[in-house]
Amino acid sequence: MKFDTNCLHAGYKPAGGEPRNIPIIQSTTFRYETSEDMGKLFDLEASGYFYTRLQNPTSDAVAARLCALEGGTAAMLLSSGQAANFFAIFNIASAGDHIVSSASIYGGTYNLFAVTMKRMGISFTFVSPDASEEELAAAMQPNTKALFGETIANPALTVLDIERFSKVAHAHGVPLIVDNTFATPYLCRPFQWGADIVTHSTTKYLDGHAAAVGGAIVDSGNFDWDRYSDKFPGLTTPDDSYHGVTYTKKFGLEGAYITKATVQLMRDFGSTPAPMNSWLLGMGMETLPLRMQKHCDNALAVAKFLQNHPNITWVHYAGLEGDRYYDLAKKYLPKGCCGVVSFGVKGGRSAAERFMAKLELCSIATHVADAKTCVLHPASATHRQMNDEELLAAGVGPDLVRLSVGIEDIDDLIADLARALEE
Ligand code: PLP
Repeated sequence: MKFDTNCLHAGYKPAGGEPRNIPIIQSTTFRYETSEDMGKLFDLEASGYFYTRLQNPTSDAVAARLCALEGGTAAMLLSSGQAANFFAIFNIASAGDHIVSSASIYGGTYNLFAVTMKRMGISFTFVSPDASEEELAAAMQPNTKALFGETIANPALTVLDIERFSKVAHAHGVPLIVDNTFATPYLCRPFQWGADIVTHSTTKYLDGHAAAVGGAIVDSGNFDWDRYSDKFPGLTTPDDSYHGVTYTKKFGLEGAYITKATVQLMRDFGSTPAPMNSWLLGMGMETLPLRMQKHCDNALAVAKFLQNHPNITWVHYAGLEGDRYYDLAKKYLPKGCCGVVSFGVKGGRSAAERFMAKLELCSIATHVADAKTCVLHPASATHRQMNDEELLAAGVGPDLVRLSVGIEDIDDLIADLARALEE
């Protein structure tokens, strides 16, 4: 089936008389006839549900839908995007290992990597998203286990050259993990360009309504763990906690990575989504193509309006001709560049603050990527503790406004922006 059809139907096929919508299986536990039947589940000899911390039918149906949208072979939902990026890496890296990551990533992910995972003994090298093949290769070490980047980075709005990153990753025998949150599979399917694993903060466009925090990991099934067995023993040698199961042997390249993340990491860390939240996500994904196109069309119109406004000093949006990432966006994001636009207000920090206070339709919120337009001035919110010099060093100028353009009528949005800029 085509993408739009999969948004509505993939992952769940009701039989006669069954609910048309994915049912919410709000149950922690599942009943079995005999202890032997249940024992087979614990030995991974049979598949089935026994405890929602590991797996739940509602979450699995929605994960299967996202898997179809990304074109992967296996997927899992998690309680947040933070959990997804942590699991995606910790599934293949332990103390003593090393990861190369684009420096242009969400601040929460940066902190997870540079502070918290560092405390676990995993080291990170951060590289420019524009790094050449040679620069990327120079960052790789014998203990490197993955390369990481964001398709469209939050908040810098850089566009990742996925083909270039995957080429270097594969030349060094490691997978490329791509956080596809801002693009969603509607705008870009990173597996088509060589990425091996995709992660999401489903909290954003996939849910689309700012209703539920959530995360997801999807595996392409393409990375040959067995070929680099010495690097990935967790997938290619027996797991004592499951009576000696070897994941690649038992579940194949298509299932090994997600099975291991589910039965080991979800079992031990329990970053499980509530079935109700998974259901909300599934509902949101039904309208993903309609919403994403409107986000993109509105954002481009807003970016063009801002670009021509005398009170605006600069605009970043990869869909704008002349933007630094315009050519990469043409290649990787032909349908549009999502709804997030950043720009500078003439007059710096105080002008940006005064402009935002005058907005009525666009609400001030730390969130991005949902149906209603929201706006943030990082210098007075997320980066409040920094002075102007520190802000510039962090790439977040004191005049920077991040606008997450929603799906309202474009005339109303532009009228709100125009009035606030005028006032
Ligand atoms: N990845 C990206 C690109 C994000 O923008 C975010 C949150 O803003 C996250 C991951 C973290 O996701 P969550 O807030 O769902 O934990």
